This record gives sequence, structure tokens and C-alpha cells, in this order.
Amino acid sequence: MTAPQSQEPAAGVAGLPRGLRVTVIVGAVLVLAALVMLVAALLTRQSALAELRAEAAPALQRSVSSLQGLLDTYQILPRVLAREPLILNLYATPTLSPATRETANEFLSAFNAAAGASETYVLDALGNTIAASNSESPVSFVGRNFAFRPYFHLAIAGWAGLYFAHGTTSNRPGFYFSYPVKSSGGDAVGVAVVKIGQERLESAWSQSATPILVTDAAGVVFITNREDFRYHALRPLPPVLAAELVGSRQYGDGPLAPLPVVGEREFDGVRLVSLHEGRRSVEYLLAKAPVPNTDWEVSVLVPTATVEEQVGVAVLLAGSASAIATLFGLMLAQKRLRTHERLAYQARVAEALRESHDRLEAHVVERTRDLVEANQRLSREIQERERAEQIVLKTQNELIQASKLAALGQLAAGIVHELNQPLAAIRAYAANARTFLERGRPEAASGNLDLIGELTERMATLTAELKTFARRTSDEVADIDLRASVGRARALLDPRLRRDGIELHIEQPDTALTVRANAIRIEQVLVNLLKNAADALLEAATPVPRIGLRLQADPAARRARLVVTDNGPGIPPEALGQLFDPFFTTKPVGEGLGLGLSISYGIVQNLGGTIRAENLAGGGACFTVELPLPAPQPLESA
Ligand code: ADP
Repeated sequence: MTAPQSQEPAAGVAGLPRGLRVTVIVGAVLVLAALVMLVAALLTRQSALAELRAEAAPALQRSVSSLQGLLDTYQILPRVLAREPLILNLYATPTLSPATRETANEFLSAFNAAAGASETYVLDALGNTIAASNSESPVSFVGRNFAFRPYFHLAIAGWAGLYFAHGTTSNRPGFYFSYPVKSSGGDAVGVAVVKIGQERLESAWSQSATPILVTDAAGVVFITNREDFRYHALRPLPPVLAAELVGSRQYGDGPLAPLPVVGEREFDGVRLVSLHEGRRSVEYLLAKAPVPNTDWEVSVLVPTATVEEQVGVAVLLAGSASAIATLFGLMLAQKRLRTHERLAYQARVAEALRESHDRLEAHVVERTRDLVEANQRLSREIQERERAEQIVLKTQNELIQASKLAALGQLAAGIVHELNQPLAAIRAYAANARTFLERGRPEAASGNLDLIGELTERMATLTAELKTFARRTSDEVADIDLRASVGRARALLDPRLRRDGIELHIEQPDTALTVRANAIRIEQVLVNLLKNAADALLEAATPVPRIGLRLQADPAARRARLVVTDNGPGIPPEALGQLFDPFFTTKPVGEGLGLGLSISYGIVQNLGGTIRAENLAGGGACFTVELPLPAPQPLESA
């Protein structure tokens, strides 16, 4: 199992402490939002100004056209005058007759009225007024010299003149249109002048809400629909020029002060001017165009308030969008963080599981190794035990054999005695038989021979039993009837018991009592117990020596029980605990090996039984052997 890699980047914002990370993120979001709003403001301003400029262009064009149209219209008037025979007549003779002058004055008055002009007049080559439309008024121009006016200089030089100024007498502002009056030779001999009142031009613009300005070469506003701008300069005038203008009274008592411009800048090719108006500053988009054939310029001022409104709305929208985007981003970040934490938790759980699994495996391996070692140790011990058991078994067999030999040795004397008795009897019966035959009593001899036969039969039985006992046996087990074993043991010991006058009382069932055992071993146990009882009785010289042998089945306990009792001295209490130990004996050297009970114990235990010793209440010893009964055979089905 591999642990999932950490989702945490090694460097960057995620590597910072949480507090700092939040500050950095908030800072970045704020900077980003500010940038977005700034860009929105810039773009909106740019497009709004472009729109405004597009709006201003036709307004400007209209203003220029209307001004141009008026100028074109009025500048024809002095031309017409200059060709008029009545006017030309004025220059025909050096001295003018009053009648000619009067006629000219009347003509000019009529012309002036027809043209809607303020004044119409003609000057001679020196600038003196020869005739005028206002000759009848108290402020008649006739006789006045206007050589100082620029329109005179231009016209006398052969050009059409155009000039704006306040009238020197009337102080009323107006346009002066001039044209040279030429002689038949083509020289300028005089100048025709038509003054058009300023209001004729401005009336066309009075309806426009947009400020329209006409400025001269010095930047002085002289025609406008904004009275507060009039005779103010767009930029400060050089002092000499200002003094000159004041002296010439071209603009009357006009202040000639600069407009209250508080800021002026270019934005994306658009000129923006901020003016101080009242208590606030108002920004305008300034669009300019020159007036053809003049050194004048027409300017249109479009307030940019709507632009600022649009910019405000755009910034608001951009701010809102940024806020929404930030919220959305935060939600995403939160989600990502949660996913990240979940993954990290899963990874931690997986890691913990893997660790405990590894620990468990290591533990299992360790324990398995211990178990394998313990198992090997156990196997070795079992082998050792088995070997030891083999040795014990072998030794036991050898001891059994040895004890049998010992018993045989002891029995030998008794058997010899047993055989001597019948032998002596046989010898006596044989001698008597010969005597009976010699005396001619064959039936008596035959009776003796029968007795001899019986005796030899008995001797044969005895020797057969001995042979069985002495034979080295295998440990093969078989189903044996315990009653048969009791019978053979009794037969073996019968001569001895009879010799010592010991009564053997056997109590056993009528039917077979079968156990799974080796018959020779069982006989050996019985012989040992009976012999020991006989030894004890003899040793204690018990007056009426008696041995009891009881054989019984205990089906409830699934046991066969063999009880050997005697009425001898009993077992000394201190010997009770070690009776079954090998080589424990109370008998004199040469009479007992101390192996009988120990071997019997081994035999009984090998068969899954028990042997125990106790003293009877009324005196004497009691040995009880219990052997397992075979499991009952299931009934065969028919
Ligand atoms: P051995 O007969 O060679 O002494 P056993 O192992 O047969 O060896 O018996 C051990 C001892 O148990 C005897 O020496 C004897 O002291 C005691 N013993 C056995 N049977 C009896 C008995 N029926 N009454 C009294 N003591 C007995």
C-alpha cells in the first residue's frame, strides 16, 4: 500500500501560516478588484469620451458653418458697395459737391437698412469717412478718421477685411467687413465698410445649451452664448498684447482676464478643460475648429458630467462583479480546502491502517517464529520423551524379565518340592504295582498305574504353567477374560499356598469379564499381588492365613475391578506413599527386589487403568486394580 501524496504545495501562498495567508489573499483580492475597477473606469471613460467627441463634432461643425455662412453673407455687402456707381462717383473728383455727398449718404442709409447692418460707410485713401449711413445722427461718422482700424489697412492694401471690435463712438460690438474701392485703373482709392451687430451672429447660438466660443488669434473669447465667458482669454495674455487691446478698446471695457481654468489635460486624443464655475469645478470636452480665411477658432465645450456618471456606474458594476467573483472564488477555495482536508484525512486514516497492519504482520511474523521455534522445541522434546519412553519400556521389559527370573528362582524351590512329592508317590505306586503283579493282583497294579497317570498329568500341568510364565512376551493386547487370568495365576501359586496353609477365596462373576489387555501381563500383576499377600501372611505368621480375590464389573464406571485382600499385618503407614516406587522393599536382601508393585503399576497404567493400596479397617492389606471396560458394541442391524 502506498500512502497518498500530500496535496499541500511545497511553496506559494499555501506554504504560509494561515493568518498571513488570509491577509495575502484578501490583499490580492482587493488589489485585483481595484485594478478591475480602474480598468473599467479607464475603458468606460475612453468610450464615453469618444462618444462625447462624436457628439461634439457635428455641433462644432454646425457652429463653424453658421458662422461661416453669416460671414460669407455679410462680406458681399462691402464688395457690392465698392462697385456701386454712386459710391465710385464719390472718388471721381477731388472735391465733392454737397449734393453728391448727400446722395451717397442717403444711398448708404437705405443700403444699411436693407442689409440689416449697424453702420455702412466709405473711407477715402487716408481713412477719412466720406459718406455714412448715420450721417444724419449725432454720432455721424462723416469726417471721422478710421485709419487706425486694421480693416482699413487690409482693404486699402487691396484685400477684403474682417474685424471684430467695439465701436469707438457707440461702444457696440460688431463685425467690420471692408473692401477696397478701386479706381478705373484698379488702384484702391478708398474703402467700403459694413458693420454688422454682434447679436446677429450670436442669436443663432443662443438656443444651444452647449457653450460655443469664438476666439481670436490671442485666444480672447469675443463671440459666445455664455455671457460669463465673454472677453475672457483662454490663456493668460502677454502683457504687451493686453495693454494694446485695452488701448485699442477693441473689446471695449472687457476684462481680458483668463478663464478660471483649474485643469487642462489630454485624454486619448481628447482635450479636457476644467473650469471653476460658482463654487465647483466643471469639466468640459473642448472641441476646436478654425474659421476658414480668418485667424479665429470656434470652440465647443461639452460637459463631461455624463461621462463621470457612466464611469461611476461602470466602477460600481465592476466592483459588484469583483465582489461576486471574489465570493465565488472564496466558495471555490472553501470547497477545494474541504476536499483537500478530506483527502488528507483519508490519507491519514490509510496511513494509520497501513501502520497497524504492518505492526500486526510484524507481530504475527514474530509470534509465528516463536511458535515455530516452540514447536520445534516441543518436537525435539517429544522425540526425546519417546526415546526415553523406549528406553524405559526396554528397561521395564528387562526388569520384568529380571523379576520373573527372580520369581522363578523363588518358585523353583516350591516347584521342585511339588514335583518331588508326586515323584516319590509315583515311585511308591510303581514299587507297589510290581509287588501286586508279583503277587498276581493285576487289578490292584492297574489302580496304581491310574494313580501314577494322574500324578504325571498334574506334573505336566505344573511345568506347562511355568513355561508360560517364563516366556518373554510381547505387549500385544487382545480381548481377554479376566477369569482365565485369575485361574492361571491361581494354578501358578497353588503349590505355594498349599504348602504355607493359606486359604485363597476367589469371588468372580459367572460370565466372562472381558478387558483389552495382554494376558501374560495381567497374570504377572495377579501373581505379584497374591505372592506379596502370601509373603506378608507368612512373615507375620498369621494364625489362620487367608487371601481374598474378588473380581467384579462396574458398568456405571466402565471399569473392571480386581481386589486382593489378606488378613496379614497390613502395610506400614510410612510405606504407603512409596509402595509403587521401584526397588522399595521391606524384605531381607535376597528375598525381595522391590520391583513387583512398581512393574504392576506400569502394566496397569499402560492399559489405562489404576492400582492403589490401602489397609483394611479390620487389619490386613487391600490392593485394588481397575481396568477400563471396552466400549459396548453397537447392535447389528438385521
Ligand atoms: P518385594 O515383594 O520384592 O519386596 P514388592 O514391590 O512386590 O517388592 O513389594 C514391596 C513391599 O510392599 C514389600 O516389601 C512389602 O513391604 C509391601 N507389601 C506388599 N504387599 C503387602 C501385603 N499384602 N501386606 C503387607 N505389606 C505388603
